[in-house]
Amino acid sequence: MLEKKETETRFGLVDCNNFYASCERVFRPDLVTTPIVVLSNNDGCIVSRSAEAKAVGIPMAKPLFKVRDEIRRHGVQVFSSNYTLYGDMSRRVMEVLSQFSPEVDPYSIDEAFIDLSGVADDKLEELGRQIRNTVMKWTGIPVTIGIAPSRTLAKIAAGVAKKDPSFRGAFSVVNHPGLPDILRETPVEDIWGIGRGFADRLRQQRVTNAWQLSQANLEWVRRTLTVIGMRSAQELRGISCLDLDEADAGKRSLMFTRSFGHPVTELAELEEAVSFYTARCAEKLRAKGMVTGMMTLFIRDFQEKSWRTNAMQSSVAFPEPTDFTPDLIRYMQTELKKLYRPGLRYKKAGVFMTELIPKDQLQLSLFAKQPRKEDQRLMKVIDELNEKMGKGTVFSGKEGSDQAWHMKSEFRSPRYSTNWSELPVVR
Ligand SMILES: [Mg+2]
Repeated sequence: MLEKKETETRFGLVDCNNFYASCERVFRPDLVTTPIVVLSNNDGCIVSRSAEAKAVGIPMAKPLFKVRDEIRRHGVQVFSSNYTLYGDMSRRVMEVLSQFSPEVDPYSIDEAFIDLSGVADDKLEELGRQIRNTVMKWTGIPVTIGIAPSRTLAKIAAGVAKKDPSFRGAFSVVNHPGLPDILRETPVEDIWGIGRGFADRLRQQRVTNAWQLSQANLEWVRRTLTVIGMRSAQELRGISCLDLDEADAGKRSLMFTRSFGHPVTELAELEEAVSFYTARCAEKLRAKGMVTGMMTLFIRDFQEKSWRTNAMQSSVAFPEPTDFTPDLIRYMQTELKKLYRPGLRYKKAGVFMTELIPKDQLQLSLFAKQPRKEDQRLMKVIDELNEKMGKGTVFSGKEGSDQAWHMKSEFRSPRYSTNWSELPVVR
């Protein structure tokens, strides 16, 4: 893995600007210059702000009652969240992106990585702007695109483009002489894949920015941050080696996605795969002590004659945030039945969770329906068994026991010798 050669991979990170506020504006063109904010469930806190709302200083994550005066003074238009609308707008954006790239990997409700490998380096930004203009024309949603040889760098590039309008929404750091300076200005905690814990460890060792991490001795990084952190360091050098769902995306969203080992045509087989992915994602959710208020399913098919695939995506907002695997699986099964079309050969599926909130916050809420004690106990036992005995020891019947759709390598034994994260553990 360490010897992995630098390839000509090119990733675009497409990020919708102020997504929820932008969705509301699409259907209220009269508000084109009005500051807009969107509130969380039960109209609690501000979760999305238009550029104008940011400019007049409306803060993020503040409860509405604390900013009532500013809201009135600046004529801010307030919206309750409408997750069904946001889920549908997300689907439309992803559909447009699939016109431009054979691999569109939604990463959260308002972000996707697209594969741009094979595009000439000097045409990347031009293509980025074309994508941005097309998404705007067809969906009304403004996006920003960062382009780089690795996903980690693409994220950083998008961050730069977002702050500076002179990039006109697209920025490529491929062979860019200014990259070292950009990395110097990127604090370690802002790097995709570097969670709070990793950032603290790095800061203790006086590694405070992305440039320092990219230049650090890899063996030292591995010892300090595990093999995952080491891959982050390599990504900063332009070597793509971090899988989509390996990176800790922080507290905003969680995902699980895999390509199938062979084309899948039967609904029953897809159901198993989607249930399995949902169960894995739910484990990650519970390990973080979070519950989710919204979940999205996407599936992709093989096309014989064209590199394009059908981008099929469907979201569901839950009546109450939850971390209970059987409920989550039921929701995803329902979405799958909406998306599935007989005759298509599916190659990939994935799920992601958004609207994550800490579980203890849910328990403090007076109005929320409290999770059932026995459900929670069941999940805890299953997580502990799977942790101890290996993934999938205990599984929901929906996940299936034969799992023919798995990539072949999913059945491999741990890569003891080549992958540090899979070293046998002696307790
Ligand atoms: Mg965004």
